[in-house]
Amino acid sequence: MSEAAKKDLRSMNLDDMTALLKELGQPAFRAKQLFGWVHEKQVQRIDEMHNLGKALIAKLEETCEIVPFALERKQVSKDGTEKFLFKLQDGNYIECVLMRYRGDMSKQRNTLCISSQVGCAMGCTFCATGQGGFVRNMSAGEIVSQVYEVNHQLAEEGDTLPVGNIVLMGMGEPLLNLDNVLKAVALLNDPQGQQIGIRRMTLSTCGVVPQMKTLADKKLDMVLAVSLHAPNDALRSSVMPVNNRYPLAELMEGCRYYQKQTKNRISFEYALIAGFNDQPEHVQQLKTLLKGLDCHLNIIPVNPVANTAQFSRPDRKQVAAFVKALQNAGLNASVREEKGTDIDGACGQLRGKVIKEQ
Ligand code: SF4
Repeated sequence: MSEAAKKDLRSMNLDDMTALLKELGQPAFRAKQLFGWVHEKQVQRIDEMHNLGKALIAKLEETCEIVPFALERKQVSKDGTEKFLFKLQDGNYIECVLMRYRGDMSKQRNTLCISSQVGCAMGCTFCATGQGGFVRNMSAGEIVSQVYEVNHQLAEEGDTLPVGNIVLMGMGEPLLNLDNVLKAVALLNDPQGQQIGIRRMTLSTCGVVPQMKTLADKKLDMVLAVSLHAPNDALRSSVMPVNNRYPLAELMEGCRYYQKQTKNRISFEYALIAGFNDQPEHVQQLKTLLKGLDCHLNIIPVNPVANTAQFSRPDRKQVAAFVKALQNAGLNASVREEKGTDIDGACGQLRGKVIKEQ
């Protein structure tokens, strides 16, 4: 069997493994063992699964693989944020960002921001990934591999906390790769795997309304973060082409549907750009737009991105005044500083740099 035809074990759930082992003439209990090696112990090679027996290991090596997922580069920011660039089997690159929160024992956690696509078709003008275009969807195995490989890094460094929170906010629009994303979410949540609670997972979308409704109908307890970034259609369409397809009225209708189905509060991301979306009238427009929704606005002072020098970052006073005005208008709003700005923290920047260097 050629390498290309081998089955990717990390993309398989228990049903897939049960079917595989049946094909290989193995008893059913082997599927649970295999699942444990792949998704709980996160082995990197099939020959590490020593209790499966030499004959089965040989069969698995012949027909399956744990897809190589090589760490190409790691950068550490002054604020402690770590950015990983991984090379996929086909030579493409993706990246993810680790944030280790410390302090109070009960609040300690490792949060990983992961990618769901190689590149992105949505073309948001403020985003390095969007400027690079779409390449392909990531498989469920590639999505979970980000967590497993970062867990290996953490263990090597003696950090006893594995990744416990997931943010689908890296490269790509997760709702446009929904089947693989949902399979990865279920694998990460599995009690026989990493057991990461669905409530500890956040999915970020630029607002692809039909898929938002599909996700809503799954009634998962996942946090939905919507990239809003502008309070009216004219401004939003100028930075987010998706708004031409699904303007704000439709987006809000999708958000209300999501909330009705899941009863979850929605987070709105709002990159604050000086002189663009930070004016007093924008506060009023946001108030009207978000009326009746249980939501939170994360105000993120915009991060400088190559090729988007036209966006200037508001100073601290301007940011504080805007947030205060939102709160006075009755909205839940707070500032979220983007992490890792000194290590190309915005999505897609590290990948862009490596591709340029080649
Ligand atoms: S911000 Fe997100 S949706 Fe927009 S282009 Fe970048 S990766 Fe795609």
